[in-house]
Amino acid sequence: MLKPELISQLKKIVGKEAVLTSKEDLTTYSYDGTTMWTHMPDVVVLPTSSEQVSQVLKLANENRIPVTPRGGGTGLSGGSIPIKGGIVLCTTKMNKILEINKTNLNATVEPGVVLQDFNIALAKEGLFFPPDPQSFFGCTIGGNVAENAGGPACVKYGVVKQYVLGLEVVLASGEIVKLGGVTSKNRTGYELVMLFTGSEGTLGVITKIMLRLLPKPLAQKSIMAIFDDMVVAGEAVSNILASGVIPSKIEFIGNWLIRRIEELTPMGLPVDANTLLLLQTDGTPKAVEVDANQILDTLKKSGAREVRLAKDDAEAAMFWKARSAAMGAIYSAAYTVLNEDVTVPRDKIAHFIQGAEEIANKYGLTIVLVGHAGDGNIHPIILTDQRDSEHFDRAEKAIDEIIETALAAGGALSGEHGIGLAKQHFLKRAMDPVAIDLMKKIKGILDPNNILNPGKIWEE
Ligand SMILES: Cc1cc2nc3c(=O)[nH]c(=O)nc-3n(C[C@H](O)[C@H](O)[C@H](O)COP(=O)(O)OP(=O)(O)OC[C@H]3O[C@@H](n4cnc5c(N)ncnc54)[C@H](O)[C@@H]3O)c2cc1C
Repeated sequence: MLKPELISQLKKIVGKEAVLTSKEDLTTYSYDGTTMWTHMPDVVVLPTSSEQVSQVLKLANENRIPVTPRGGGTGLSGGSIPIKGGIVLCTTKMNKILEINKTNLNATVEPGVVLQDFNIALAKEGLFFPPDPQSFFGCTIGGNVAENAGGPACVKYGVVKQYVLGLEVVLASGEIVKLGGVTSKNRTGYELVMLFTGSEGTLGVITKIMLRLLPKPLAQKSIMAIFDDMVVAGEAVSNILASGVIPSKIEFIGNWLIRRIEELTPMGLPVDANTLLLLQTDGTPKAVEVDANQILDTLKKSGAREVRLAKDDAEAAMFWKARSAAMGAIYSAAYTVLNEDVTVPRDKIAHFIQGAEEIANKYGLTIVLVGHAGDGNIHPIILTDQRDSEHFDRAEKAIDEIIETALAAGGALSGEHGIGLAKQHFLKRAMDPVAIDLMKKIKGILDPNNILNPGKIWEE
């Protein structure tokens, strides 16, 4: 419990309407997109400016109060859960798009801008911000930068870090620091912008973001490929990438999920398919035509049972609706969902899929496979129930083996969701101990009192 005088001071800084203390409000900020953890904060503050963020952090630092930064709360690694209580600093009222510059192909935004609002504003200008986490209706750009998020379009366009030109960050001390800028090139000193990108709210609160943009592609074509075998589908992905065409999206949906989506949102998906690949190519109309034909050809040669080229925008939208319905369909199916995020090199996709299938059989579990196949980032998701210790134990053993399989194939522990609470147990296995030590030293310099998102990334 925070002392009443501290609550009064917070009210003076952000205004009394922007300080939440009722049980109902605190509960709303006690969880994120994971199903394993909840923890109540003592108070939630909703600042509207960098200066307010600075004063909140100064007060928290002087009084050694934990502060958990939060955007939309859609994270899938527990990052925005206030596991040590204290203050949740939520940025959703800092939601202004400050500038969109068509000539310079960049934009400056506050961290609480919801990704879909940004996409809509950019589309009006014929512009495009490619990273597309499938939580776009709720996640914020601050959260995207703090997690270095990805999404389907990253196979061609790269993840968020490839678009961050500059940041304004408030440090634990309350100091406001400007990093990088708005130019497309900037080689001034150490690359501190990248240090804060992906820092999961542990090094500072991001209060302004300068982003690189692209012109919106003129044309797109979407393809659905139906496979009878998931390993063959995985090989097809590697074959496409090796053929010289980089589609803008290659997504993977396994049979359990195809049936589940069709059950909840009937849209004519082939429920007998073992695996669906959803692909998109974008660019100029002529290039898209050529690429789509080459992709269709490679899919057929790689053993697809059937390939469908969307005949119009409505059919293409249906394909992608199936993909965006995936997480809701999965999370509504089990009490506890273990959503893995390992990533393997692109030529190891089929090997990894086969490994996941064997692990599912060995432990008698439903392991749903879905995600960004083109990046080697297929999420194996285990449906379990932490109240059933026997089942949960099997699920945890399976997760362990999935991670081992990915790491042994030269993969990474997290492709896009971050470490947070969910993956900290595995960090030592996945990272050079000297690198972990270096990260802890950086944390110690920037946040000596460990007030910013304590309890995250490494086990304490
Ligand atoms: C249905 C669904 C689909 C998803 N699909 C994808 C996907 O395709 N790709 C993907 O990468 N992720 C995906 N995610 C995960 C999640 O949406 C992303 O990680 C997203 O970037 C989180 O944004 P947020 O605003 O919700 O952040 P939050 O969950 O609020 O916070 C995430 C982390 O960022 C920190 N943080 C937030 N704002 C700031 C700030 N201003 N300054 C410093 N730190 C901050 C928090 O402390 C926390 O550690 C999905 C989630 C869901 C629920």
